[in-house]
Amino acid sequence: MNDNPYQTPSSLMTLAAVEKHKAPCPVCGYPLSRVRLTFPFARCSNCRRRMCLRRSWKSSTLSTLTAIVFFVSMSYFEAVPGSNGLLFAIHAVTFLALGTTWFHLFAQPSLAGRLGPASPVELVREKRRFLEESVSDTSLTDNPENQTPEHS
Ligand SMILES: [Zn+2]
Repeated sequence: MNDNPYQTPSSLMTLAAVEKHKAPCPVCGYPLSRVRLTFPFARCSNCRRRMCLRRSWKSSTLSTLTAIVFFVSMSYFEAVPGSNGLLFAIHAVTFLALGTTWFHLFAQPSLAGRLGPASPVELVREKRRFLEESVSDTSLTDNPENQTPEHS
């Protein structure tokens, strides 16, 4: 008898998370849509925790590289607010737009704290709370008093 009623379909959820534009929820592992996370007060549809985006190594590196390219380009075209204001403004706006794009494409979902992403301690606490909630959910459905006897 290998049937474990307490086993969650975590491997299935991880596979689904590999899907494009989706990332696993840091608390329950459920695949979250990145597009939804760009909105404030986004919640995981499985564990109902509030989520936000946290910059990743990839998004930070791309932003740094973009900054270097723009600095070189601004030096080359002498784009400074005083003499070449329009070119400077175009550089600034494009840089902000690219930085936002990298962030939303490559940032990782994170449990939201009061201000920005929650601390690792808060994440561990919420994970533990989620596990306790799922265990109490299964114990409710597996309550022997609610079941009809199988051996009659
Ligand atoms: Zn979740």
